[in-house]
Amino acid sequence: LWYRECLSESTRAQRGREAHMAADMRVEEGLRRALRAGELELYYQPRIDLATEEVRGVECLLRWNHPERGLVMPDQFIPAAERSGLIVPIGYWVIEQACRRLQECQEQGLPAMVFAVNLSFRQFHDRKMTETIFRIIFNSNIDTSLLELELTESAMMHDPDYAQRCLRELNQLGISFALDDFGTGFSSLSNLQHLPISLVKIDKSFVQDLGESADAEHIIRAIISLAHSLRISVVAEGVETEGQLEFLRHQHCDEIQGYYYARPMPWQDLVQFVDQQNQFACLQN
Ligand code: C2E
Ligand code: MG
Ligand code: MG
Ligand code: MG
Repeated sequence: LWYRECLSESTRAQRGREAHMAADMRVEEGLRRALRAGELELYYQPRIDLATEEVRGVECLLRWNHPERGLVMPDQFIPAAERSGLIVPIGYWVIEQACRRLQECQEQGLPAMVFAVNLSFRQFHDRKMTETIFRIIFNSNIDTSLLELELTESAMMHDPDYAQRCLRELNQLGISFALDDFGTGFSSLSNLQHLPISLVKIDKSFVQDLGESADAEHIIRAIISLAHSLRISVVAEGVETEGQLEFLRHQHCDEIQGYYYARPMPWQDLVQFVDQQNQFACLQN
């Protein structure tokens, strides 16, 4: 009997994998079409400077305008794109699009803002990564000091020598680096002190635990103080309430990203938001 159970267990797992693979293949096929048909779109979420309340930058976040399913969020397709490798061309499309908007910003005389783009593990380890990013930048006319790439701890720590080489090469072009979802991985900031990282993003899970767990407060305090002692700025993600905002302000967190100020939004809405927010900030100061 145990034998039969084991057998069915492994068949179930096998079927699970097959279903997973079939689902991945459907997503992959859809994404290839999406890339060609222009169904992918970037949304932009403002990052607010806590001291001045001005928009300091935006994070570019991928959305898929699916002809039948409507607006599809990244967690519905990025994992499959990562497994199939399709995240690599998609990721370059994202950087290209972000550079185009950054250039537009400069041409229209909008205030200087940092454009942050997420780099997946797979894309960071693509052999043509630095070369391709060089090419995208040389084909556009942007102030590269306004382009920021967000990486997770695991992408950086997988091969520290490789990470160091890539980050330095891109940093020499003016590009800066942020550590995304900080606190959820296993590395410590001291492991990263030799890398040219200028920003740490505190993962939203800590921010959302504020008020419910004293640990979250301690962790956030420790991250901010350690980052600042290494001259690294700190952004808190997922800020939704006044209470969270006040705590972070009190801890001298540099920037806030979250629904409290704004959700990710299409380009045209962002242009309006930046104008209003900066006028408001100007009146406050
Ligand atoms: P992330 O890089 O950590 O991005 C922040 C996520 O937190 C975004 O989710 C954003 O909408 C969400 N967020 C921001 N403020 C709040 C808040 O106050 N409350 C809550 N509940 N959520 C908030 P989104 O846009 O769904 O993206 C999810 C993840 O997908 C991103 O996490 C990133 O890892 C990945 N992703 C998005 N765009 C790209 C891309 O172009 N390339 C790659 N490789 N990954 C991407
Ligand atoms: Mg990010
Ligand atoms: Mg994050
Ligand atoms: Mg994330």
